[in-house]
Parts: sequence; C-alpha cells; structure tokens
Amino acid sequence: MLDGLFRPGSVAVIGASNNPFSIGNIVIRNLVAYGFKGPIYPINPKERSIRSFRCFKSVLEVPDDIDLVNISIKNTLIPQTLKECGDKGVKFCIVHSAGFKEVGEEGIQREREMVALAHQYGMRIFGPNSQGIQNSDPEVSVYANFTFVPMKPGNISIIAQGGGMGELLKLHLHNVGLGHRLYCSYGNEADLTMPELLAYYGQDPGTRVIMMQIESFKDPAAFLAVAAKITPHKPILAIKAGRTHEGSVAVSSHTGTLVDQAAMATAMFAKAGVVEFHDSEQMIKAAIAMSTQDPPRGKRIGMVTNTGGPGIQMVDEAVSHGLELARWSEAGRQRLAESLYAEASLGNPVDVVATGGPEHYFAAVDTLLKEEGVDMVCVFFVTAPFVDLDAIAAKIKEATAGSPKPVVMVVETSSEYYRLIDRLRACDIPVYEFAEDGARTLAAMARYAELKGRPQEPPPQLSVDQPAAAAILARHAGRHAYLPQVDALALLAAYGLPVPAHAAIGSRGDLAAAAKQVGFPCVLKVDSPEIVHKSDAGGVALGIADAAALEAAFAKMANRFAGSQAAYLLMAEQAAGREIIVGAKAAPGLGNLLLFGLGGIFVEVMKDIAVGVAPLSRPEARALIRSIKGYPLLAGIRGQAGVDLAALEELLLRASRLVADFPQISEMDLNPVFLYPRGTAPAVVDVRLRMQ
Ligand code: ADP
Ligand code: MG
Repeated sequence: MLDGLFRPGSVAVIGASNNPFSIGNIVIRNLVAYGFKGPIYPINPKERSIRSFRCFKSVLEVPDDIDLVNISIKNTLIPQTLKECGDKGVKFCIVHSAGFKEVGEEGIQREREMVALAHQYGMRIFGPNSQGIQNSDPEVSVYANFTFVPMKPGNISIIAQGGGMGELLKLHLHNVGLGHRLYCSYGNEADLTMPELLAYYGQDPGTRVIMMQIESFKDPAAFLAVAAKITPHKPILAIKAGRTHEGSVAVSSHTGTLVDQAAMATAMFAKAGVVEFHDSEQMIKAAIAMSTQDPPRGKRIGMVTNTGGPGIQMVDEAVSHGLELARWSEAGRQRLAESLYAEASLGNPVDVVATGGPEHYFAAVDTLLKEEGVDMVCVFFVTAPFVDLDAIAAKIKEATAGSPKPVVMVVETSSEYYRLIDRLRACDIPVYEFAEDGARTLAAMARYAELKGRPQEPPPQLSVDQPAAAAILARHAGRHAYLPQVDALALLAAYGLPVPAHAAIGSRGDLAAAAKQVGFPCVLKVDSPEIVHKSDAGGVALGIADAAALEAAFAKMANRFAGSQAAYLLMAEQAAGREIIVGAKAAPGLGNLLLFGLGGIFVEVMKDIAVGVAPLSRPEARALIRSIKGYPLLAGIRGQAGVDLAALEELLLRASRLVADFPQISEMDLNPVFLYPRGTAPAVVDVRLRMQ
C-alpha cells in the first residue's frame, strides 16, 4: 500500500534551504501553497528556519512521526541521511537527487547500495533522479514535487517516467481549466516500480482515467499483469517514448529487425487493454473526454454541424479511425425535418445551417442521442453572430444531460466568445478546437470500449510433443548458431506446425534415398549456419523435376559451396500460395513476442505486421490476423479466393506455444509460410531459428 507516499500525514524536506532556487525550498513552497494538510519539517543543520518553518538539524530531532521525506541533497550524503530516516521510522523517501543509474557503473552501484540500505529499515525509495508526487485529494493536498504547474482537484491521474513529459500533460490539463488527481514522475525506478505505482492508481477511488508516459519497461510482465486488472474498470492511456529504431543492434532476421521496443509496447498494450497513443496531444484530448464521459457501446458516430467543411473533416477523420457513420430511423429523420430549417441537411452530419439556433441544436443533438443506431455524438459549432451563445450552451447541456452516450463538442470561435467554451466545459462537455480532434477523441473512446469488451480466454491446450522438441533444443543449447534446417523443421513438426516432406543430404550418395522420400518436384537448399540468406547465395534450386535434374542441381551447388562446411536439404516443392511471415523474438522480462505479416515485399517494404505476446489465446490470434492492413488479401477480395483463416489461426497458436514453452528461443523466422484456400494445409518452407 502506498498511502504513506500519496497520502502522507507529515512530510520532511531534507536539503531544504533559504535559497529560493533550490529544490528543497521549492518543495516547501509547493507544499504550503497547495495547502498540505499535515505538518512540514525542513531539515538543514545550518538553518534556523525556512519559509517560516522551524528547521531541524536531522529528522531524528523532529518531535513527530514522519511518513514521507523529500531528499535533494548531494548523492554521496544520502546513505547517512537514510540511516537517520530509518531510525526515525520514515516510510517513503522521494529522492530527487541525480547521479545514479543515469551516469553509469558507479551510479548503478550507488543506487543499489541506497536501495539495500532503505530496505534494511523497511523504507521504500521513490526515484532517484525523480520529480516527486502530487495528490490533489482535498483531504491530503500534497504537492511533494519541485515543479510549477498549479494543482487543483481533478480525476485524471498521471504517471510519467520522464518529468518533462509528465509536466507537459499536467500543463495542458491546467490550460483547459482542468485539474488532475494523482501525479508522479518516477525517474530511475530503483525501488518502487512503475507497476506498483500503477496498481495504486488503479484502486484510487478519485482516479477515473490514467495517463502514462513510459520510456522503458523495467518489468514488462508485472506491468502487463497490473494494467490488465485495471483496464476493465478504468481506462489507461499510454505513450511509449522512443519508438525509433535501435539501429545499433545487429539483427539478421526480419523478425529481429521488425520487433523492437515499440512493437513490444504495442503488443503489451493491446493484451492489457491499454489505449496506445503516439502523440501526447491526442492522448490528453482523449483523457479529457474520458474523464467525464463513459465509453460508447459501439462504433457508430452521429454528427451535427452548422457549416459544411468541418463536417466533412469530421467524417473523414471518424472513418479513417475506424468509426462507422450512424444512420437515423425514419422517425428520427421525421423529427429532424420538423424541427430544423428547410435548408438543413438531415443526413450524417446533420447540418442545421449557419442560422440554426439553440432550438435547432437541441433538436438535432437530442434526436441523435435518442437514436438506437447512434453510439456517440460529435457536435460542431462555429460562432454565428446572430446566434445567442448562452442559449446554445444551455440547450446543449439540456440535450446531453442524463444521456449515457459520449458527446464531444468542437467550437470554432474567437477569444471574445470563450465564455461559451467555459460554460460547456462546466457542464462536463469536452470542447476542442478542430473538427478532427472531436472525431479522433471519440475514436479513442471507441477503441477503449473495444478493448474493454474484447473476448478474453486463456491460451488453448494444444497437442504437442514437448519432450521431442526439448530434446532437439538440448542438442544445440549454448551454441547461439542457427539450427540446421532439418532440426529446426523437426522442432516445428513436434509442435504440429505444417512442414513439407524433407530429407537431409550430406553427400551425393544420399540423393537417391532422399528423392524417394521427398518425391518430385522438389527443391534443393544449402543448409549451413554461415549462409543466412540462402537464395541470395545461390543456395536454393527450385522446380527440380526428376533425378537427372536433381543430380545437376546438386553438382552445381556442391561446386558453389565447396570449401564451406555446407550440408544440403531436399524439400518437397509446394505450389505457390499466399506468402506470409511468422516470427518470434525474445523480449527480456516478458518471454517471446510473436510476429505475423504478409511475406515477400509486403514485409520488406510495407512493414505491414502485427505483434502479440506469446502464448496467444484464440481471440488474440484472430485479432492479430485481422489487424494487418493486408487482411483483405487473406480474407479474399474482388473474386480472389481467401486463404484458410482457421489454419492460419492454428499455425499462429502453435508457433506462439512453441516459443512460450521454450523461452530460450531468441529468434525465429518462418519465412515464407505458404497459405492456401480452405482444404489445403499451409506449409512452412523455410525456418531460421536460434537460441540465446
Ligand atoms: P532464404 O530465405 O534463405 O533465401 P528460402 O528457403 O526461404 O531461402 O527460399 C527462398 C524462396 O524460395 C522462398 O521465399 C520461396 O519463395 C521459395 N521456396 C523455398 N522452399 C520452397 C518450397 N519447398 N516450395 C516452393 N517454394 C519454395
Ligand atoms: Mg526464407
């Protein structure tokens, strides 16, 4: 329980000083300015008083219990101070001081010792290199943080790894007149972890929406577990910072390059029901809407406007974010026709026209909200000088009051008329500036609703030969090299993955027996850990029709690879099918991630892929398949037959089960896998796999 941190009864500020530009001084100023409900104790051996508070030489001199201390002294002085805090019975220490993990080896050691020392006394460290915490609950009103954004009560809570981003999120809420509930920026996460903080936010009754900014996951599995428990009852909106590529890591498989930190975050967010954003402005706007509105039941948006252009923008943005345009019932259309001007358009968006006044807006919004086929409403209003703005606000309020459906407004006006915006916000209606923002925000709410309602079940039981797979991997343990194709294919077969008939060839003498086993037409491939891209090296001969052709192909290849320790593989040739790639990559602290996408140029140029956390459940496998842009190519489009989607689902489940059962598999590429219309089994024709 983190009440001692977020609801402290008393706070001591170690390193407080009379220098108004020091962290300690500012923390005291903030605690006072925002009316902290408990006593404040500045600690500094050299001062008598700070900001009218009596100053103590050490926490040990303080006559009262201390729950929380803020520490901003030089990092080398911290151990001695921590011992005193421990003796005093302090519960939580916010360490603002820097010079720890972020400065390298020496700092890492210092950080480790600090945490070990705190734990000896049962204390927890928040930070170091951190900003601190805030809780605007009027019962506590604690601003134990050295920053500047004013604090007032609200119901959106913020967890940010980086202080600058956390501050930005708070600032924007403040600028639109909103407060926030809990705030923390946790810095190095040496002891108290982000998932622990998140769990606290999850159970905080005053928090309705959680916004997160994450730079790196220290414990991805813990985050996943905690977030998944919160999202069914509270939205979590998150940004993973640092999405650009880790170019420095040398990776030779497609999966290796495509599955990066950002893909891992996306996979985890989807699994845990977290709404992901790539843009902080959009995240804040969505959080604002979610702080007063419940998620929609479906994806059908109804729109109202008094001018054409922004209406079109709303439609474009809504549709491109996956929303559907609602249609009205005959009765609804009738009511619109009777209530609006003759020039009004009664479709979606409803255009009440520029002279449309409060009654018209009321009729349009009220009608749409009462329509069975409308899940959410976006209202655009551009100030018309001949319209009574106060009455508009009052009528919108009347129309939306009591409706469970989310309504957002977009108001285009000049600063003289901002009172309209203030009035609407005062009735808990989110107001934005751009038509696109209204549509995007509702789309984000629909995304949350979709995640919340997603089918959840455990990964299925599959019949697999785990001992056989374990035996194959045991033979290669510790070698880090790519497994010979024959072994990798046998491993896949043990997990019920569809591999074509194949045989290993050591020398020319093996050809006849191998051909008998595999049959014609067949494919001859070089099989060597040194040759990663076989076809580029001339190591794949396709369309071998008979024994003579096989002899010729072998002679050519043996000649080409003479001198290297190459072995060969004969494989039954498969008819051309839809090519996909299925891959996996180990994600430290999480297990393996499974990648899926269309193969060939699609994966190389379009990077049209989806990533999930292994092992997948059936609904997760299905969602992964549907989430790629090329899905229509798999489902069948314009008279072209689709592929066997059930077989694809099974294949993803089995591949994900394999890498989940054997987390030592660090990289796997099934590329390509051929898919066929229903009735023909898929075929994994190439596998590249290695262990940690
Ligand atoms: P690499 O990826 O190392 O170059 P592959 O084994 O993937 O080698 O072979 C290259 C290409 O040859 C594949 O992308 C596929 O188009 C084709 N191919 C490989 N094996 C078969 C097979 N058994 N049947 C049909 N085509 C194949
Ligand atoms: Mg290949």
